[in-house]
Amino acid sequence: MDIKGKNAIVTGASRGIGRAVAVRLASMGANVAVIYSGNESAAAETVEECLKHGISAKAYRCDVSSAEETKNTVQEIRKDFGSVEILVNNAGITKDGLIAFMKEEDFDRVIDVNLKGAFNMIRNTAALMLRSKCGRIVNISSVSGIMGNAGQANYAASKAGVIGLTKSVARELAAKGITCNAVAPGFIETDMTRDIPQENNPLLSSIPLGHMGKTEDVAEAVTFLISSDYITGEVLRVDGGIAM
Ligand code: NAD
Repeated sequence: MDIKGKNAIVTGASRGIGRAVAVRLASMGANVAVIYSGNESAAAETVEECLKHGISAKAYRCDVSSAEETKNTVQEIRKDFGSVEILVNNAGITKDGLIAFMKEEDFDRVIDVNLKGAFNMIRNTAALMLRSKCGRIVNISSVSGIMGNAGQANYAASKAGVIGLTKSVARELAAKGITCNAVAPGFIETDMTRDIPQENNPLLSSIPLGHMGKTEDVAEAVTFLISSDYITGEVLRVDGGIAM
């Protein structure tokens, strides 16, 4: 699919991987709806970066875990942009803890944002993609969802759930020309991984390529999957080889 002229929604695009995806889509000619949860000025910076590429871009405040907010926001985006052909479900949080001590609300909140958030956004945009007779959905999972990770039962469960969601949606919408894929990053340099100790960390030294990835590495994989007409239900790892 030629990304030029298409309308894209990127959730959690105020910073990190989401911002890199939004800017890369803009650089390829897509108009971008930047969804953010709290940081208005950071979202405005993403919009500013996108606008430099001569496309349309606008920020929308929306908690993706809310069925009502996502419905209203997608309606607003439709009014502003006319159609939606691309959805990147990137918004995500961690609330790590060992299973015996994990609070119920921390389990629920991570599932609500990471998994239900993707569900909410897909549910609200699928009808628009069906109308456009074309659609590309990319969900950001994680290697934690493939391998599991001690201290991340909630996060890994949410990201494994995202993979199941991706494959089901891919099967359901394939006949309508809509693809749905996932990208599973490993350790990427963002605010989310800022506190990971760099020195003598066995997790980092177990990365075959020997270093953390950059947000642009993930953005490249996302736009590759969006460009493809014949890949659906795939989980593309961007992890320096850690989960092979
Ligand atoms: P980040 O913390 O820098 O950014 C997360 C974004 O999600 C922010 O813009 C935040 O505002 C938004 N967000 C959080 N809760 C939200 C909500 N309820 N509604 C709407 N937006 C919300 O994180 P990142 O490292 O850029 O991660 C982006 C995605 O990639 C996440 O889904 C994360 O789980 C995944 N991921 C990251 C890594 C990594 O190493 N950084 C690895 C694997 C997967």
